Amino acid sequence: MTDDGAWDDVNWDLDFESFEWMVHLAACFNRHLPSNVPWTVWPDWPHDMLGFVVDDQRAGWLSALRLVHTHPNIAVEGNSITVTDSRGTARELEDVTVSSRWWHVDVGIDWDVPLDVVAALDATYGPSPSHAFIPGHLQQVCLGIEDDAASYGLGLSAVLQAMLDGMALFGKATDFHAARCRSCRETTYSEGLRGQGFVSSQEVTFECFSCSWETVTN
Ligand SMILES: [Zn+2]
Repeated sequence: MTDDGAWDDVNWDLDFESFEWMVHLAACFNRHLPSNVPWTVWPDWPHDMLGFVVDDQRAGWLSALRLVHTHPNIAVEGNSITVTDSRGTARELEDVTVSSRWWHVDVGIDWDVPLDVVAALDATYGPSPSHAFIPGHLQQVCLGIEDDAASYGLGLSAVLQAMLDGMALFGKATDFHAARCRSCRETTYSEGLRGQGFVSSQEVTFECFSCSWETVTN
């Protein structure tokens, strides 16, 4: 059952094609619900807003819209969502739409990871030299939803939770290992393989692509 007064608090000054409007309208249509229960009412709005959301994906989007509307550390303006993590770092998602499945999030640290974060990562994953710094190409992490059939709203919720947690972003950005090519001696930082063989006393060696290509062709 919807509240007959759903339209009473609508702010008609908002841009009807913005994500902010979608959040706002959903909040108006679910305002009759207790604050601790999931939203259930899809707004009765004739236009597509940011894009069409099929029936079985609406629950996931209502969950994301509720998170954006209710969380004290999440703000929405136009098509941008700003999330402030527990360390006080604010990060922004821009151009938010209902058709986005993957999101690029800036970790927000240039190279050196703060010491308290290093300690927390060491405690969670076991000590690793990779916790001390973030190579350039990992300073932005890609987050989203694997399951193409699921509501992308659930993917956005997961991204927002990772941004609220901050540490989840550092965990992903520091999950790399360094390896030195045994031929050209170049060092690269590759994603994954947390902690594997990456200790300061013992170098990981491999044959880089261009060197192994030369071996094949010569
Ligand atoms: Zn090489």
